Amino acid sequence: MTRRLLVFGIAGLVVAVAIGFAISARREATPKATQVMPAGALRGANVLLVTIDTLRADRVGSARALTPTIDDFANTGLRFEHAYAHVPLTLPSHAALMTGAYPTRNGVRDNGTFRLGDASPTLAAALKTIGYRTGAFVGAFVLDARFGLNRGFDLYDDRMTGSPAGAADPDLVQRTAEQVLAPAEDWILNRASTNPQSNPQSNPQSAIRNPQSGGPWFAWVHLYDPHEPYRPPEPYRSRYAAVPYDGEVAYADAALGGFVARLRAAGALARTLVVVASDHGESLGEHGERTHGLFAYDATLRVPLIIWAPPKIAAAVFNDPMRLVDVAPTVLDLVGSGPLPGADGRSVRPFITGEQPFDDAGSYFEALNANLTRHWAPLTGMLRERTKLIDLPVPELYDLATDPDERQNLYAGQRDRARDLERRLDAVTRGAVPAAPAALSADAEARLRSLGYVVGSAPAPSRRYLAADDPKQLVHLNQALDEAAAEWARGDAGKAIDRLQGVIAERADLTVAYDRLAFMLRGSGRIAEAVAVLDGAAQAGHADRPLLRSLGSMLRDAGDLPRSAAVLEPLVRGDAADLQSADALGQTYARMGRSREAESEFKRVLAASPNDAAGWNNLGSLYLSSSRLADARTALLRAIEIDPAQAGAHNGLGVVYARSGDIPGAVAEWKKALELRPDFADARQNLARVQK
Ligand SMILES: [Zn+2]
Repeated sequence: MTRRLLVFGIAGLVVAVAIGFAISARREATPKATQVMPAGALRGANVLLVTIDTLRADRVGSARALTPTIDDFANTGLRFEHAYAHVPLTLPSHAALMTGAYPTRNGVRDNGTFRLGDASPTLAAALKTIGYRTGAFVGAFVLDARFGLNRGFDLYDDRMTGSPAGAADPDLVQRTAEQVLAPAEDWILNRASTNPQSNPQSNPQSAIRNPQSGGPWFAWVHLYDPHEPYRPPEPYRSRYAAVPYDGEVAYADAALGGFVARLRAAGALARTLVVVASDHGESLGEHGERTHGLFAYDATLRVPLIIWAPPKIAAAVFNDPMRLVDVAPTVLDLVGSGPLPGADGRSVRPFITGEQPFDDAGSYFEALNANLTRHWAPLTGMLRERTKLIDLPVPELYDLATDPDERQNLYAGQRDRARDLERRLDAVTRGAVPAAPAALSADAEARLRSLGYVVGSAPAPSRRYLAADDPKQLVHLNQALDEAAAEWARGDAGKAIDRLQGVIAERADLTVAYDRLAFMLRGSGRIAEAVAVLDGAAQAGHADRPLLRSLGSMLRDAGDLPRSAAVLEPLVRGDAADLQSADALGQTYARMGRSREAESEFKRVLAASPNDAAGWNNLGSLYLSSSRLADARTALLRAIEIDPAQAGAHNGLGVVYARSGDIPGAVAEWKKALELRPDFADARQNLARVQK
């Protein structure tokens, strides 16, 4: 223990020294030609990929000793001092990591509205082809199977607690590190042969274990905890009360530590290549950004990255730049597989061994969420040789070696340096997949117009963005959106609603603000006003697909079922991949008594997203209303199996049992529902009725 602590202490010191001295001092640490590591050096090794969401590079190996588990991997593995993400957002960043391709090529540009297409080769699919068993365990809805990262995985465990439909922001539907790691550990150690995805009706508890079955495994675990809201469990909550973000980081690392220790004790890490990475950092107020996704400064773009496989890979620090798109090609090179077709990344093994001199290919990045959801100027950029170009109406150029905090914009004075990066940026963006989610068809557009809504079937053609559209000029609106969310979370609805109304008054095309405002109005019992806000935005031409989907759902809640269906139907017919709209339409059909159509929508959602507990609950409730008791029982049990905290499913199951004559069974389910949700009126009434 003393020795471990000593190693961590030294690691902290090394980082402090490196920051304090010039870049040349750090370059000396590059282990050129010191590693002997031919292609296929790790043939047959297991691969454990750990991604810790929203983990800033500077939190690893920091003097605060937040991450002893990751530090241990860093001290005994290969640590990449300058590793970069390509998008500061969860889904597109993981898509780049898994495909080795930039978002311009793999097509995933934002959370929620994009899906990885079937044509993109992935790390999981490549490993599966050479005989790996593949399992993924993700911590947030934003990586749900419906968004396409499940391809190539035998098992994709995306069981969340809570429902995206009931959340202010689907990005926040998550589970804890321990909830992610427990099934991952079980899968790795027992190689459970069950596969909830391909066989949704199966029960993992009764799965046949087959520990002797051959072939290496590839496991991906994704820990979402450092993402906001920062609510670490105790003792981290108290210990890091001043910086709860650090508490989440420390909690995630500790959970990972337990997982790693148990795997090691079972001998499961003996022949395993471990990769630890983050998808992006967190701004924590730098440059006026509280979280991530708007800008592309190093606070969010630079990520921790470690590749660990002693004794084949010696402990070292690699100082030349590494990109997340290089991870999959490097792993495949090490385990002796062919490269990923169409990758932008490359294996960095030859640079580590000194077989080839390093040449900096440059790293592309983008942050398009504000462009796609707010009509602000699109942010793209290029990073090469420690120089970063951010291409915006007010362009920026930073020398990261001398100005790591990106305070001094050199663009005006160093045009030649900028021009070289601009050329490289153009080479990546030329011929890129268009940065727009599936557009509405002309027919869908016409149908929505007939309802009075102005929606474009295609993105505005080559709109010219002005300095006023630069996110730097609009960051205060971003802060206002964040503050409103924080006020809402604190229970201060009036303040949050006022703030959002102010935001809309300043910038009328801020689509996402209408959506959030309507959500808060509905949550405050002001459903008619919520509908009016969305209706007004859509009539004024500020609607996008998520806003129309919200409008359709709110019309249903307000009781206007025909109009709800009329808004949702064009969305669903216009894009088969828009499962959130399919789910909303299914609920509207169910309320209208159009059971067959509702069933078809729910089943479509569950086919793409088989671990959607709320979806199974919806389907079960639909069956229950059609008196299909056996079907209802199966669907509701499935919902509970995925998420035992689904109070609605327990209540429904109670009804199934009561109607089948099993009153004690029914009472037990209703009591369970009330335990989970004490204010659940239906469950209380059901219980009162039988106890009379
Ligand atoms: Zn993320």
